[in-house]
Amino acid sequence: MERWRPTIRFLERVAKAEGITVAAVQLHAHPKGSSACYDGEAEFDENVITLCGGQDRETVLHELAHLQTQTWHKRSWAQALVRLHARWLSPRKCARADRALARDYPKARRVYREKYGKRLRVWQRREDIF
Ligand SMILES: [Zn+2]
Ligand SMILES: [Zn+2]
Repeated sequence: MERWRPTIRFLERVAKAEGITVAAVQLHAHPKGSSACYDGEAEFDENVITLCGGQDRETVLHELAHLQTQTWHKRSWAQALVRLHARWLSPRKCARADRALARDYPKARRVYREKYGKRLRVWQRREDIF
């Protein structure tokens, strides 16, 4: 439980400052290893976030953006997430998280272009950022 504390503290701090309602955070780990689990999940109709073990701040912000916008991987969600990246990550991590977002989610590509004034290049999209 101890190792979750920084993640949970970060989640609580962001949720409070952003006015995001979080009813519950469910945590789970795979002591014997996991073949294919998700990083996190958001049930935004119930304001519940589920996290798989060892997640970083980017995952927490991803799920909080679902609760904030009450929607899936749509443009409004991507816009909210880019705002959260800028406010809660260091500039270097923010740029990296924005790139990964545009690479992984088609609806985020226009949001990326609007922020940076350029398209995400293909080589950046292919690069393994994490
Ligand atoms: Zn899991
Ligand atoms: Zn998601």
